[in-house]
Order: sequence, then C-alpha cells, then structure tokens
Amino acid sequence: EKMWDIIIIGAGPIGLNCALEAEKEGLSYLIIEKGTIVNSLYNYPLYMQFFSTADKLEISQIPFITTSTKPGRQDALEYYQGIARQKNVNIKLYEEVLKITKSENFFIETSKGKYEAKNVVIATGFYDFPVLLNVKGENLPKVLHYYKEAYPFANQKVVVVGSSNSAVDAALETYRKGADVTMIIRNSEFSKSVKYWVKPDIENRIKEGSIKAYFNSQIVEITENSVIFKDENEANLEIENDFVLAMTGYLPNFEFLKNAGIQLQDNNLKPIYSDETMESNIPNLYLAGVVCGGKDTHLWFIENSRIHAKIIVGDIISKQKIATSV
Ligand code: FAD
Repeated sequence: EKMWDIIIIGAGPIGLNCALEAEKEGLSYLIIEKGTIVNSLYNYPLYMQFFSTADKLEISQIPFITTSTKPGRQDALEYYQGIARQKNVNIKLYEEVLKITKSENFFIETSKGKYEAKNVVIATGFYDFPVLLNVKGENLPKVLHYYKEAYPFANQKVVVVGSSNSAVDAALETYRKGADVTMIIRNSEFSKSVKYWVKPDIENRIKEGSIKAYFNSQIVEITENSVIFKDENEANLEIENDFVLAMTGYLPNFEFLKNAGIQLQDNNLKPIYSDETMESNIPNLYLAGVVCGGKDTHLWFIENSRIHAKIIVGDIISKQKIATSV
C-alpha cells in the first residue's frame, strides 16, 4: 500500500488546484472524487452563466480563454477538465470517500478501496445537499431541488422558491419558454448576490406582471395539483401548480465533516480551521474551497478560495522542513 503525501477529497476547481500545487512542490498526491471531474459544475443548470469573469476562475495561472466575458457551464467544464487531462492529474473517479480515520497517519475508506496518507485535504464543496422546505408534499416527484433547463416546463404552472441567483435564473428561463411562473420568496427582497445584469430583468418582469412574485411568503404544503402558502398578511393562499422548483440553496455534508473529527462552530456550522494554514482542529487534516463556509455558502467562491491550495501545500512543505531539520 502506497503512503501518499496528500489525499485530496473532491475534484472541484479547488481540489484540482490543490493537486497542481502539490505536483509543483514535488509531493505525491491522489484526488478521490465521487463523480466526474468538476462534478458540481457538471450538475449546474445547463445554460448558467458564472457571476465571475474567466480570469477570476483561473487556477495555477493557466489562462481561461472564452469569447464571452462571463463564462458558462460548458466553458468551465472544458477549462477544468482540460487541465486535468493535459496535466495528467492523478484522480480516482466515481469513488466516494466514506470514512477518514487517523492514528499516526490517515486511513481513507472509499466505496471501492482503502488508502493511506500523511495529510488529507477536504475540498468537498456544498452542492450535494439541498436545503429542504420541510413541508408536506416535498417528496412528490414534481418538486425539484436541482434545475437543469426550461424545456420540460413549457405551458406548465411553475412555482419557483428562493430569492437568489438559482431561483431568479430558473424563473426567467421557464417564463421565456412559456411557463406560468409564480415566485414564492421568504425574504422581503431579492438576495444582494443576484447578478447585477440579471436583476433589472427579473424586477421588470415582476413589475409588468409577466412573473408573479410573493415576498415575505412561505410554502405550507404541496399537493398533487396545488401549492398552499402563507402570504405577507399571514393569509393562506392556494394556487394551481404542476411543478415546484425549490431553489433554496445547498449545504455541505456536515455529518461527513463531524465523522472526520472536525469541530463545527455553533451558529453557522462553519468548520474550525486556522486562517493562516487552513488546517482543521485535527493536525494534518485541511479544508479547502467553499466547504469552509459552513452554512454560509456565499462566503467562499472560486475567486477567493483558489488561494487555499498554495496555503495548504506551503504549510505541509514547511512542516516537512521542520521535521527533517530536527
Ligand atoms: P465543488 O466544485 O463543489 O467540488 C467538490 C467536489 O467534491 C465535487 O466534485 C463532489 O462531487 C466531490 N465530493 C463531495 N463529497 C465527496 C466524497 N465524500 N467523496 C468524494 N468526492 C466528494 N462560484 C464562483 O466562484 N463563481 C460563480 O459564478 C459561481 N456560480 C455558481 C452557480 C451555482 C448554480 C452554484 C451551485 C455554485 C456557484 N458557485 C460559483 C459556487 C461554486 O460552486 C464554487 O465556487 C465551486 O464549485 C467551488 O469549488 P470547490 O472545489 O470548493 O467545490
């Protein structure tokens, strides 16, 4: 059995960046990924546009060339998978990490095998667990927590739940493919993070009545043919409905982090780690990328978390130097 210097869990943009950094510094590494390369991006809505410009999504100073200022899902898939292919990044795919245990080194148990490493980087993102509405009827097949494209919803009565980019994009796209769209929004306004060039579009569609929107409102129950919700006057309204797109956000796998021994802060379930080294409360177990935000999934994105790779590999190298000089 090989002893890896670093095992990286998750082949998202940040996991890949950790691999490139490890390679640069001559450390042996393996990425273990439960899906395909950049699996979260693969599962994004098909025609989504990043809020970041291409240069802000670059890793390891490899140019991300696109003809549009804001890349789309397919551009990003080409870019990150292209890097993995050309740099021959060492990845095991369709293999889920189930358990991390530590004695002197780490033992990693996956759906396919066992591995050992001196250091582990958790770069597992937050796209695997949707925030649930926790209402009766949520388990009906017409309720979707992941949205791909608008075509299935032509001529359908669609309720979109949420106030952030995913909700706004889904509402506009389905409206333009002929859906009758009602937004049910818990907050009093759209999220500050809604893309600045999309905001006027949604606001004007609501103003002119093309898309209906209920703010300060919450779903109470979903039935086969309707949605029942409480509006801002606390009145229960029932509207006819064919599909619910619950774009209410996603969360990291907190159980996975806890089982690895990582402590979570009380209020926002943010994992405990050092800002200087990205090392968690478990020595030699690091956190990288958007998983670091806990429940606050807007805190980190690619632009501000790609730096994690350099910090982590730098810390591992400096520990090695100390160990060999003793
Ligand atoms: P991820 O890309 O989520 O990668 C985590 C990887 O870990 C996944 O491939 C997953 O399959 C894998 N994994 C998880 N658990 C396990 C396990 N137990 N075993 C093995 N593998 C595992 N960010 C931006 O910077 N700009 C944007 O414009 C932007 N737009 C977004 C739009 C949408 C719709 C969403 C949902 C997010 C967006 N984000 C954006 C946030 C974006 O997803 C992240 O910035 C980026 O994907 C984070 O990279 P990451 O490597 O930290 O995590």
